[in-house]
Amino acid sequence: MKTTRKEREELVQRAMLAKRRAYAPYSNFRVGAALLTKEGDVFDGSNVENSSYSLTICAERNAVFQAVHAGKTRFRSIAIASDDDELLTPCGACRQVLSEFSPTMEVILTTVDGHVRVTSLDRLFPMPADLKKLARVPRTRKK
Ligand SMILES: [Zn+2]
Repeated sequence: MKTTRKEREELVQRAMLAKRRAYAPYSNFRVGAALLTKEGDVFDGSNVENSSYSLTICAERNAVFQAVHAGKTRFRSIAIASDDDELLTPCGACRQVLSEFSPTMEVILTTVDGHVRVTSLDRLFPMPADLKKLARVPRTRKK
C-alpha cells in the first residue's frame, strides 16, 4: 500500500517531535524517526547516545526495535528528522536493520527547514546482507 501525502506529513511531524526527545549530550546532533507499519501504526524513536560511544543507538533503529517488540515487523515508510540543513540519510547499520523487515519500504528524508525528499530503502541499500540465503545453499555445496 502506498503512503498518502497526509501520512507522509504526519510521519515528518512525528519524526520532528521525536527528535526533541533525543539524548545527544556528546554530539549535540539530535535525530528523530517515525516508522509507519503496514497496519497503519506509527512508532517513533530518537537517538540515544552513551559515553561509551559505540553503544549509541540511532533514532531509526530505536523506532524499529520498539515496533518489533510490539509485534509489528512489516513497514511501509520511515521519516527521519534532524537539526541539519541537509537531508539526513540513515547509516549503514540502520539500513541493514530496516532491510531485515521491509527491503523496499519508503524512506522520507527531511531537513530542519522542512525540505522533504522521498526515496526507497532498496535505492539507498540495494544489496543487503541476507542470512536467509544460508538456508538455500545445499550442504553438499559447502566446501
Ligand atoms: Zn543509524
